[in-house]
Amino acid sequence: MSGGSCLCLCLTGPTLESDLRLLEEYRPYIELAELRADFLSAEEAAAAARFPRLAGLPVILTIRRARDGGRFAGSESERVALLRKLAAGGFAFVDLEQDVAAPGLEADIEAGGGRIIRSMHDFSGVPVDLPARIRRLARSPRELPKAAVMTRGTADLVRLLDAFGELAGTEKVLLGMGDCGFATRVLASRLGSRICYSSPPEANAAPRQADPRTLQMLYRFSRIDADTAVYGVIGNPIMHSLSPSIHNRGFAALGLNAVYLPFLVDDLASFWAVADSLDIRGISVTAPFKEEVLPALARRDALVEALGACNTVTRVRGTQRGEWEGTNTDVEGFLGPLREAFAGAIPRGLRATVIGAGGASRAVLQALVSQGAEVLLLNRTVERARELAHRFPVRAAPLDERAPALAREYSRLIVQASSAGMEHDAGVDPFPGYQFSGREVVYELIYRPPVTAFLDRARRAGCRLVFGEQMLLAQAREQFRLFTGLNLPPEALELHREYIHETTP
Ligand code: NAP
Repeated sequence: MSGGSCLCLCLTGPTLESDLRLLEEYRPYIELAELRADFLSAEEAAAAARFPRLAGLPVILTIRRARDGGRFAGSESERVALLRKLAAGGFAFVDLEQDVAAPGLEADIEAGGGRIIRSMHDFSGVPVDLPARIRRLARSPRELPKAAVMTRGTADLVRLLDAFGELAGTEKVLLGMGDCGFATRVLASRLGSRICYSSPPEANAAPRQADPRTLQMLYRFSRIDADTAVYGVIGNPIMHSLSPSIHNRGFAALGLNAVYLPFLVDDLASFWAVADSLDIRGISVTAPFKEEVLPALARRDALVEALGACNTVTRVRGTQRGEWEGTNTDVEGFLGPLREAFAGAIPRGLRATVIGAGGASRAVLQALVSQGAEVLLLNRTVERARELAHRFPVRAAPLDERAPALAREYSRLIVQASSAGMEHDAGVDPFPGYQFSGREVVYELIYRPPVTAFLDRARRAGCRLVFGEQMLLAQAREQFRLFTGLNLPPEALELHREYIHETTP
């Protein structure tokens, strides 16, 4: 094993043959494999002693019981007998749970040249006395203690990171299961966990194991070390965010020792402790936290004050802990592609309709008003539109059957800033009564799917289109500059670009 953390592929196929096939597919990305013999049929498991020789890399043997999240259905004495039989096969490690007491088993494993991983699992959360429990796990200095604990929320992640801190210098495997613990997998080397378990996307070995290809190609797992600068995006939901793909590709193209992670947050107060513990340098903020972060900011720029929303948080220069400043790159993110759509100059007095009065439309309104636009704001819940009309000089109206006629008067630009038509309700058109003339510029904020039903209708009418992904990339470009002082390289900006080029008239 290397000095940092080894990336391990968990093999949960039904046969040794299928496990070998998976191993071949992922071999370029991993240093270690775990044969989960509890997923094999009894006949296949009995023949597993030959697996390490066929695998050609170090292999962990694990036969997990159901109560520890595994599938072994036999009795404990059958399991111990199988472990003893296979121990001679040349496995580099054999995983034994903390309560296993089988005289002779440890000696058999040692005689076979293997090292024992002494493991504990807690699917209910992160125990308060986790460091003490881990210290008690190993029965000899040769044993490697392992704890896999469920991170049910951000407070659990704080407790887990505290345990990493207390156990610094102790050889161990420690990981947080669940989306909230994702950072402990990617940052295994930086935190000091000897093994990071991963599995192919289609497998389901344990909650939120990333796949090895993503860990290496996107997060550059093997390059992460104690000096790696950590950045991230907070939101809920967040695990499918495109931002890690943009920023990590930027870091890679520039050769920066930095990584950008998604943080699923359920409790913002706890997240600030995570940020300090990991010494996070910069944070992208998305729904539902753009307003909630404001009280935690020591400094806010004029845009954040005007919008009442912040999407980018960085450390106040020269401070290490707790001192954050906020800005908002959504405004420039919105304006950049709009300028392109108007061939470089947005016309003064542009008459525009904005659909939606949620968090995103604040940045849109600020941007349009700053360009001297006259704006009609339509929202399903008209009170929300009226509230925004107190903050911005816009005309508010309900998104009802009278709205299309009204919008016709504000139709040089139509901005779709509601969440109607997003992934979960793809196909929904928030403004079906409006007939495009083909002369409108139509700007869709949604980027998943890349083309919504609304945008597709505008395209068929011959309108000039601006895609949500263009705004996403433009605001990320601003964020990257704030995070690193450098320009985001073009490699990081190619997501669905080819699609955008094809469909922009
Ligand atoms: P939000 O605060 O939750 O607001 C949602 C808005 O959508 C509200 O105005 C809501 O109206 C409206 N809405 C929801 N379902 C609707 C329906 N079926 N028909 C009509 N209106 C409906 O969300 P947000 O943060 O503003 O985000 C809105 C969208 O913009 C999201 O899809 C987000 O992904 C996208 N976005 C994109 C970027 C980018 O860079 N491209 C940046 C930010 C946001 P009510 O008030 O009546 O509920």
